[in-house]
Amino acid sequence: MEKEFDFLVIGSGIAGSSFALKVADFGKVAVVSKDRLQETNTSYAQGGIAAVSSKPDTFAKHIKDTLIAGDGLCNKDVVEMVVREAPKQIDELIKWGVQFDTNTTGEYDMAKEGGHTEHRILHHKDNTGFEIQRVLSRKIKDHPNITVFENYFAVDLITQHHLGKLVRRSHDDIECYGAYVFDIESGHVHNFLAKITIIASGGIGNLYATTTNPHIATGDGIAMVSRAKGIAENMEFVQFHPTSLYNPGERPSFLITEAMRGYGAVLKGKNGREFMQKYDKRGSLAPRDIVARAIDNEMKIHGEDHVYLDCTYLDPEELRQHFPTIYEKCNSIGIDITSDMIPVVPAAHYLCGGIKVDGNGKTWINNLYAIGETSSTGLHGANRLASNSLIEAIVYADRAAQDALRHIKGITFKKGIPAWDESGTSHPEEMVLITQNCRELQQIFSYYVGIVRSNLRLKRAMDRLEIIYHETEELYKKSRLSVKLCELRNLINVGYLIIRMAQQREESRGLHYNIDYPPDSKKN
Ligand SMILES: Cc1cc2nc3c(=O)[nH]c(=O)nc-3n(C[C@H](O)[C@H](O)[C@H](O)COP(=O)(O)OP(=O)(O)OC[C@H]3O[C@@H](n4cnc5c(N)ncnc54)[C@H](O)[C@@H]3O)c2cc1C
Repeated sequence: MEKEFDFLVIGSGIAGSSFALKVADFGKVAVVSKDRLQETNTSYAQGGIAAVSSKPDTFAKHIKDTLIAGDGLCNKDVVEMVVREAPKQIDELIKWGVQFDTNTTGEYDMAKEGGHTEHRILHHKDNTGFEIQRVLSRKIKDHPNITVFENYFAVDLITQHHLGKLVRRSHDDIECYGAYVFDIESGHVHNFLAKITIIASGGIGNLYATTTNPHIATGDGIAMVSRAKGIAENMEFVQFHPTSLYNPGERPSFLITEAMRGYGAVLKGKNGREFMQKYDKRGSLAPRDIVARAIDNEMKIHGEDHVYLDCTYLDPEELRQHFPTIYEKCNSIGIDITSDMIPVVPAAHYLCGGIKVDGNGKTWINNLYAIGETSSTGLHGANRLASNSLIEAIVYADRAAQDALRHIKGITFKKGIPAWDESGTSHPEEMVLITQNCRELQQIFSYYVGIVRSNLRLKRAMDRLEIIYHETEELYKKSRLSVKLCELRNLINVGYLIIRMAQQREESRGLHYNIDYPPDSKKN
């Protein structure tokens, strides 16, 4: 079945939902989400959203902190633009109904996180993302011009390729006409035709065995764009959150926010001794990559499977008040954070690279934008400063919306797009072929393409990936669509990009740490 929308938005997190709200007064919008609207990385964000609000903070300081974290690879113009446009976007979130915590004088309570030199993180207790998602989901459901498609899975972008034309990555005239979208409940694939298509499909955490990301984060958008001959970049920069709750078997791993270290909690070994000063003079408040590598190293030296975060000496009442979600979660597995140290372990958390876009979120493919975690804007460079991703998503949603509204008048719906062809396929005989390949993939990435890499590990990962790739492609060709198989295929695509770009980067920089290239051998 064919459906026509002015704007097709793939993803209902902060990026997709805010884009939808910004264009909905000017055209028909479809928001497609492969799970429930609220099942997004956005909902899981705890710490907050960074923006300069008042003295002594300044734009210059936020810009400088972001550039330092990015380790020489940020696009300075983009950093300046995002930092300067951030306060206006925060105002819009507040206008839409998002509630940020205030202090006793009624001003917004600004928290401080690792790598930030000032208090500039707006937050809603320790579940900021949930609050933002709550408001955005309600607003998009209420808007008469927005149709929400929950449990619809975008499979592939529609381009000239589907009209029988040869499309190459070097061509600059590739056009996107919408996407093939799979209705998970009915099993039908629909042609969603659109004048403008937006990829806002989030991250890739499920490529790894331990991740803070919910199950939706399988890099679908990046894989779709790559298959459509668009461009991805900076894929080697995968951020590991240093402190997820060590609770074997739990997926996603529960995150212990950085704000806790900002609040005074310190990292300790199993012997009860602090170790961060050995690695960085900022101690437990050092940037994420340094803390994650330090924990990785401590665990390897001592043969332990976790370290501890100690907040037992902080005021118990204030702890409970500031971090109610963490308090409850830990309590549910028998840890009282006011008297027990919290066992923590690093987990795959955020992808700094992604689909290459310009200053308005436009991709290499015409009429196609990418915003939010799936995109690579140049803001994060080689490492993301904490709490800079929610703000990036909403600033780029705004810029993409303005740009799309300027261009949409000249675009028409494409006619003659063929229906999805399922001939010659049947249901996969054995789901175990998919689940086992997925598990293997996650092991490969955790062991060989994780926090610390080497040339040999990367080669080994690529060799193993080739095998899984061929097996999966063969299965895909003869199987009817299933979400699990599509996601596996997408993760393999994304994994290939990560390894290839990691191999091409012959240095250690930011989040990409390769023992064959010591940090002092960094180029320029
Ligand atoms: C535990 C945790 C804590 C975090 N804390 C912070 C923080 O404090 N501050 C901060 O700035 N950032 C934080 N982040 C990062 C931040 O939450 C994300 O980068 C951001 O929310 C991404 O938003 P998004 O809109 O790009 O994607 P998401 O919010 O992940 O939304 C992706 C959407 O795409 C949909 N989708 C994906 N693939 C398909 C497909 N094939 N078809 C249809 N739909 C699809 C999903 O269903 C979902 O609706 C945190 C992340 C996690 C996981």
